[in-house]
Amino acid sequence: MQLQNPQLLQTNAYIDGQWVAADKQETHPVVNPATGVVIATVAYVGAAETQRAIDAAERALPAWRAKTAKERAQLLRRWFELITANSDDLALLMTSEGGKPLAEAKGEVSYAASFIEWFAEEAKRLYGDVIPGHQADKRLLVIKQSIGVCAAITPWNFPAAMITRKAGPALAAGCTMVLKPAEQTPLTALALAKLAEMAGIPAGVFNVLPGHAVAIGNTLCDSPVVRKLTFTGSTPVGIKLMQQSAATLKKLSLELGGNAPFIVFDDADIDAAVEGAMVSKYRNAGQTCVCTNRLYVHDSIYDEFAEKLAQKVAQLKVGNGAEPGVNVGPLIDAKACEKVQSHLADALAKGATLAYGGKPLAGNFIEPAVLTNVTSQMKVAKEETFGPIAPLFRFNDEAEVIAMANDTEFGLAAYFYANNLSRVWRVAEALEYGMVGINTGLISNEVAPFGGVKASGLGREGSKYGIEDYLEMKYLCMSV
Ligand code: ADP
Repeated sequence: MQLQNPQLLQTNAYIDGQWVAADKQETHPVVNPATGVVIATVAYVGAAETQRAIDAAERALPAWRAKTAKERAQLLRRWFELITANSDDLALLMTSEGGKPLAEAKGEVSYAASFIEWFAEEAKRLYGDVIPGHQADKRLLVIKQSIGVCAAITPWNFPAAMITRKAGPALAAGCTMVLKPAEQTPLTALALAKLAEMAGIPAGVFNVLPGHAVAIGNTLCDSPVVRKLTFTGSTPVGIKLMQQSAATLKKLSLELGGNAPFIVFDDADIDAAVEGAMVSKYRNAGQTCVCTNRLYVHDSIYDEFAEKLAQKVAQLKVGNGAEPGVNVGPLIDAKACEKVQSHLADALAKGATLAYGGKPLAGNFIEPAVLTNVTSQMKVAKEETFGPIAPLFRFNDEAEVIAMANDTEFGLAAYFYANNLSRVWRVAEALEYGMVGINTGLISNEVAPFGGVKASGLGREGSKYGIEDYLEMKYLCMSV
């Protein structure tokens, strides 16, 4: 891994503006999922270091929130520019520790940077309200203030964007942050911290702790100083963190699992639907929480759609994401591969047919697959597969497919392809999801509210709504 700027390879924790080893000198290897090679050894911190980071974030808070929004925005703008200027290095770090193809990693860097830019701009527009008084001598106002010290816990599948989507609004609003990245992808997080330091973000405002998930998580949840926890990850861990945050009544943003349906109606443009399915299913080897998990195709176009999809999937190049032309990289680890293989085996045992792929490959690689004749009794119907398998279910009418699409505890993203305008409205309103892609398989961007309902979580990230999660409303009642 040859970085243009070697300073971006940081292996210590970033606490109070200092790069520090773990108190007990404990370290953890970062493994390239494509090769199995250890690419770096990173400090592995615990409760004591976490407490110091919380203390630093608390000390840094008064001066940071006292800056004008414009002053904070200027520093964030500088951070955005440095992320953009170092996008090749950040992408290489991401591909090396997370496995996604380099082109996708570069796409993620600009997506990640866009949250910093957007929220720096939004910070200047955090308007309050003047409310007509309820009595002649009263003047009523609402002002918005930063929540305070925030904790963030992030996953490996978007090692940069899940961090900036939280740190961007938090810092722009005047909050300080203590962040724990995923064990698998600490290098991208530490490089972002290095760029924040270079941008002049003051010590203690943004702290990054690679280390023991449970020890760090417990310390963050138990601390009364931490007023908000923002988490992206699995639903069971989200529930646990919510329970742990109850004693200190923290505000919570939880972006949890999904089980996205992708519906192709008989009035859809089939070629466009195939394209949409390709991007929403096989991106990041199927490892995003908004990736299509279940495809429902109308009986009258099922065979044509399956054939066209299988032809496209056959063109995907599988391999080490650092190599040119690769579309599908490795899965994150052996456990992820086992889950995908078990979903495949279960579907085949219960009567599904492989229209393409599914051959086991060496290492953490899985050949992208298209499964036909899939039924609701199979694991792929209920569980999030998080891998490059497209299971195709057959349906006959609209009410039936809406019921099937909603038959899950999750409610993050859904997609459908249709051209009849009345149907488009009916289906969009009936899907119990936080986000719906209509005739598109790509929905994530910094200007739109990202988030789910039901077991997919609480709160929204991105858009003008995303910064509200980092603000408290204060009502002022003035007698004149
Ligand atoms: P995934 O399946 O994507 O790894 P997880 O929910 O296990 O999802 O992980 C997401 C993030 O949550 C990671 O940073 C992980 O280290 C962290 N995490 C996992 N378990 C806990 C826990 N008990 N307390 C705090 N953080 C945790």
